[in-house]
Amino acid sequence: MYSFRCGEEGHGLKDCPVPAKCFYCAQEGHILRDCPTRPPPPVKSDAAPAASA
Ligand SMILES: [Zn+2]
Ligand SMILES: [Zn+2]
Repeated sequence: MYSFRCGEEGHGLKDCPVPAKCFYCAQEGHILRDCPTRPPPPVKSDAAPAASA
């Protein structure tokens, strides 16, 4: 088992004691998906589908 977060062997990512580090702002405590400084992804509008023929 190998944890690529800290580079240590013997435990997996789920058991890694090292807190997740954001790849966007490089702050610990959250990950890229939860980054507060990261702009939200574009909203997909499924309400009005484009004309398809
Ligand atoms: Zn680890
Ligand atoms: Zn962040």
